[in-house]
Amino acid sequence: MRTSRLLVSTLALTTTAAVTAALLTPPDAVAAGTRSTADRPSAPLMGAPKKATSEGYGGAVSSVDPEATKIGLRVLKRGGNAVDAAVATAAALGLTEPFSAGIGGGGYFVFYNAEKGKVQTLDGRETAPKAMPNDAFVDPATGKPYNFTPELVTSGVSVGVPGTPATWQRALDKWGTWSLGDTLHPSIDLARRGFKVDTTFRQQALDNEVRFKAFTSTKKLYFKGGDAPSVGSMFKNKDLADTYELLADKGLRPLYRGGLAGEIVRAVRTPPTTKSTKLPVPPGYLKKRDLRDYSVLEQKPTKVSYRGYDVYGMAPSSSGGSTVGEALNILERYDLATLPVASAMHLYFEASALAYADRGAYVGDSAYVDVPLKALLDEKFAAERACGINPAKAATKPVAAGAVTGYDGVCPTTTSAPAEHEDTENVSTTNLTVADRWGNVVEYTLTIEQTGGSGIVVPGRGFLLNNELTDFSTTYVATDPNRIQPGKRPRSSMSPTIVLRNDRPWLALGSPGGSTIITTVLQMLVNRIDLGMTVEEAMAAPRATPRNTATTLAEQAFIDAYGTALTALGHTLSPAGDGLTSDPFIGAATAIELGKKGFMTAVAEPTRRGGGATGVVSKTK
Ligand code: GLU
Repeated sequence: MRTSRLLVSTLALTTTAAVTAALLTPPDAVAAGTRSTADRPSAPLMGAPKKATSEGYGGAVSSVDPEATKIGLRVLKRGGNAVDAAVATAAALGLTEPFSAGIGGGGYFVFYNAEKGKVQTLDGRETAPKAMPNDAFVDPATGKPYNFTPELVTSGVSVGVPGTPATWQRALDKWGTWSLGDTLHPSIDLARRGFKVDTTFRQQALDNEVRFKAFTSTKKLYFKGGDAPSVGSMFKNKDLADTYELLADKGLRPLYRGGLAGEIVRAVRTPPTTKSTKLPVPPGYLKKRDLRDYSVLEQKPTKVSYRGYDVYGMAPSSSGGSTVGEALNILERYDLATLPVASAMHLYFEASALAYADRGAYVGDSAYVDVPLKALLDEKFAAERACGINPAKAATKPVAAGAVTGYDGVCPTTTSAPAEHEDTENVSTTNLTVADRWGNVVEYTLTIEQTGGSGIVVPGRGFLLNNELTDFSTTYVATDPNRIQPGKRPRSSMSPTIVLRNDRPWLALGSPGGSTIITTVLQMLVNRIDLGMTVEEAMAAPRATPRNTATTLAEQAFIDAYGTALTALGHTLSPAGDGLTSDPFIGAATAIELGKKGFMTAVAEPTRRGGGATGVVSKTK
């Protein structure tokens, strides 16, 4: 027997005004006091000034770093388009945010092509070596699984073929107007001139001290003289300048086929460990032919319609587009705008949990496993999934995955057994958003996986290698869509998203944060579209990250605003950090909203992870 879905009743939890006020409490008031701040550096942020919101015309950039944003803006001012500026900004982040992203990693590039009037994407995710065995995460010496930390994260085993350089080249070839060399030159200059170290840079290096000191190359670059670069000092990376120069002169051949490819392979197969390190550092399986065979994939974006907006995201190998999309489809069945905010947040928690259950059960690299993407983004499927939501009571987590075949939008009487899906993704990465005067928009998330990646700097080359392959499930199960397979891309959560209104770009947004990326993007969309916040407010509002786990990580201001109401419904919340310590935190997002007559609002974090940096080409039209 089937029953119709419960209608949502308005929950009398708290008054909308009170929770909205709390919702807008700046998050820097949030984490302080909830976690130890003893290891937080006390020096003020240094370097180019940061501006979390910029409004104007002619183009805009938002990233986590002021130097990178400045470089992107300079490209736009000199006539480059959004793609040229995005690549230049990303290259600068490889220098100034080297622990989050760079040419040793991968990412996803989402582009609104104004000329064609459509959204296009590039999948520049790292791939597993062809020789990577199913049991790569088992120690051959003991027959037992490696510990995730320290063995797997600081290893050659977890290094995938970097996709970022190939992504930059493909984006420029397809849509850009500048050469790779032209986009790299500002960063080459900056790497030689040096930039001011800020608290985030120093703290991230310190958080990785043991790992970084395990490699001669990494120690030399980031712990010269024994300590991490001090806040306010000038940091130069001459090796990276030379590497970028090599790519500027010779293109990508050296990196994917030549001498640099050989050096990458050597660093993975015989990691350059220091004599004194106690870390085990298992070697990896990478070969030169893996680099030679790497290719960036042009993927059709995911698309869902949400309250009249068209939301485009990244298809598998990322789970970003399908999970954000499915959750939106579920949420669209409720009139969130008329509900008290805490009730809306309850529904956000439940919809997100359901979408995460399906992500775990069904999403992996679609070149290797059959991902039921159509079903996951089908409104009938969402209707059926919404049957699992009780507006007055939180479901016990984890909730089970839905049935992706035979669904008809009517509530089923039985559900499958819930499954725990391990979550080993870290909360690093970086994100940038660029818009240009011609109407092009780029949303780009790039990463080397965890902060500091594998910890291995390619000797003499000035960049860190990723440890992205830790995004594969650590235990091999033949039915798991995210199991290790040779040549495969590990499942990602990166969710670069572009929203169109009346077929024109309206909002572009994305975030770092491992599996929390999905909820950061989802919550910001709900904040902006349903809860009536401005894009600036939607960015600053306190976050929670419901990922189908028994306890939900949430910022203290979120807990202060909704903790009582959500706990009464059966949710359990635990406090998140603010990105200034090594505690887990939720996002360091960037976004641009496109208004009427060319008006643009670029926003970045006011405080999380030290705050982001935005700029516009011109304040006036
Ligand atoms: N490896 C993660 C992913 O692909 C990104 C890492 C992070 O954001 O910290 O989703």
